[in-house]
Amino acid sequence: MSFDTIITVDWSGGNDRGASPKADAIWTCVARDSAAKQPQYHRNRQHAEEWLTDTVATEVAAGRSALVAFDLCFAYPAGFARALTGTDDPFAVWDWFAESVEDGAKSNNRFDLAGQINQQFGGIGPFWGNALARDIPHLPRKGTARTFRDLPEKRATDAAAKGAFSPWQLSGAGAVGGQVIMGLPTLARLRNRFGTDLCVWPFQKADAPITLVETYFSLMPNALAARMTEGAIKDAEQTALFAQTFANLTPDDWQALLDVPATEEGWVLGLGHEALLESRASQQLKPPPLRNDCFAMPQGAYWTPVDDALDHLRTHLKPVCGVTDVALDQAAGRILAAPVIAARSHPPAPNAAVDGYAFAGAKPAGPHQLPLVTGRAAAGQPYDGTVPEGHAVRILTGASLPAGADTVILQEDVTTDGRQVAFHGPLKQGANARKAGEDMQAGQTVLSARHRLTPADLAKVAATGVGRVTVYKPLRVGVLSTGDELVTAGDTATADQIFDANRPMLCATVAAWGYEVVDLGKAPDNQDALRPILDDASVQCDAILTSGGASAGDEDHISALLQGTGSFALWRMAIKPGRPLALGLWQGTPVFGLPGNPVAAQVCALVFARPALSVLAGGNWLNPQEFAVPAGFTKAKKDGRREYLRARITDGVVEVFASEGSGRVSGLSWATGLVVLPDHAVTVNKGDLVTFVPFASFGL
Ligand code: AMP
Ligand code: MG
Repeated sequence: MSFDTIITVDWSGGNDRGASPKADAIWTCVARDSAAKQPQYHRNRQHAEEWLTDTVATEVAAGRSALVAFDLCFAYPAGFARALTGTDDPFAVWDWFAESVEDGAKSNNRFDLAGQINQQFGGIGPFWGNALARDIPHLPRKGTARTFRDLPEKRATDAAAKGAFSPWQLSGAGAVGGQVIMGLPTLARLRNRFGTDLCVWPFQKADAPITLVETYFSLMPNALAARMTEGAIKDAEQTALFAQTFANLTPDDWQALLDVPATEEGWVLGLGHEALLESRASQQLKPPPLRNDCFAMPQGAYWTPVDDALDHLRTHLKPVCGVTDVALDQAAGRILAAPVIAARSHPPAPNAAVDGYAFAGAKPAGPHQLPLVTGRAAAGQPYDGTVPEGHAVRILTGASLPAGADTVILQEDVTTDGRQVAFHGPLKQGANARKAGEDMQAGQTVLSARHRLTPADLAKVAATGVGRVTVYKPLRVGVLSTGDELVTAGDTATADQIFDANRPMLCATVAAWGYEVVDLGKAPDNQDALRPILDDASVQCDAILTSGGASAGDEDHISALLQGTGSFALWRMAIKPGRPLALGLWQGTPVFGLPGNPVAAQVCALVFARPALSVLAGGNWLNPQEFAVPAGFTKAKKDGRREYLRARITDGVVEVFASEGSGRVSGLSWATGLVVLPDHAVTVNKGDLVTFVPFASFGL
């Protein structure tokens, strides 16, 4: 079960709101192909009904199934239908209102009609809240003035929905009574117009092409809060939020949501499934591709400082992965696409922090003796009774504090004969007890979106009772080596050939960062051979790392190919080792053209690709943790570029690799991190503090 199209409607009982979009008017939103479109404003009910009729007719004609969800009570509390129409049929109520309501753009008869119904029922009530200047017979201004009390105040579904109002209330902040009276006629006309092409859930099974349902736009407070921006119109955002959320539901979700008995009162779709809705709310389609100019950084006359390049990447990249939700046992290392909201408090109830004896209240200094009740409280095995005043109960760590106890004395601090305990005060009230929610509170955001889940995070999430989390789909990163001279290690090579060192290194690096590695092999220095490889890679991967061929020379074919895409940028970096970085989009997929020299390739991967890939994957921008360590070397460095030296710490000082040659692969393996020397000129003497970044800080 699912729907091709979702249409959400925020109804209104008010008069014409004018031509320009405003709050408290009618808003609608359509989601098709799983994506919500812009919400639409309707100045009055006549416009809205016309639009709804046309839109539904289009869906029927196109053979699509559509769910039309109104934030509007579809029925009144049990008994009303029979009292008004003589049958329990909620549709008879719809037809009654369709007959009786007079609706003009400037005025309508809703208050008079409510008064008329009250009169028909022979008392004052159930309707109340006359907001007009003139008095209306039988329609009190205040609910307390009612004498007629034969009908329930709320439907079962409104009683269960947090904050839902009674449909009897016609005025005052949050009242819904007016819009129900002014909405049922439209529902009745839609139903009569579309006949068997339309059904109304839960009164009928959702098996016609068009299904009308009622929902409640306050069911997802967190998702709505996350969506609201300054100046946004809440009604509009709600329709878009619900359209997108319903569009994200799986067939199983629908089965669960629609499984509600048909009663004359109806039901709010989604009620009882708030957590599911909140989690689906943040799901999106795979986001739109990066813009063609995302790598177009203005290049100065000279070399680009590393920080400028990093700033550019940080501000121009965005997540490219779709979203899914996974069980906690699949969630380690995944990146949250939605905040995690505590499903319940931790601890859920006050409990004992130690093994001992529980009783009520503080104990002043001096000796105390308390009789013990029979029984005990252990973790998972609560003591069901109430501890009488002046008594104590045996309690074990993690056990809920029984009623009548809020304080625990450590078992090591008491003497006991099994019938009473003796100990010395003072003891503060609440000692050795954990308060409910002292760690985390239900409803609290315990982890933010973009965060990568650590093992400890899983404990935190589990402790709040959340079993599934919304995460980005894994970023698929392709790794390609380019160069005619390359041979895969293990194969035979002539003296003119070299073994491909970059690919195993970069594949392992990408894997260590938690991404899905797509080994694209190696490619010759030939554009015709490279082109189909990149074509393929752009389908298989969300980002591509290449090495070699990234400069501006004759054999720099990665640069040459990207140049034709309109997205190419050759960043001349003020960095050693490194220098040119070829960036561009190949059919929308970002390509990071790293230098060929293995040391430069790895340094550029760690410095530029790592934070960039993190953002593409949906995560935070990453700044590696740095440490100030005394130098065990001397060096004079020129102004104008940042230098990364292969380094390791020995006996509390940081040493650097003997050679700075960027082809010296062995030095990378010797090192446990990099020393970073600043852009400007420095002279490093032994014992000076220098910046050391362990490879672990780069996620390796
Ligand atoms: P390029 O950037 O293509 O001009 O290559 C620069 C240097 O790095 C050349 O000496 C290449 O042979 C070397 N090189 C390029 N790719 C690799 C690789 N995958 N493994 C080892 N060395 C490489
Ligand atoms: Mg080359």
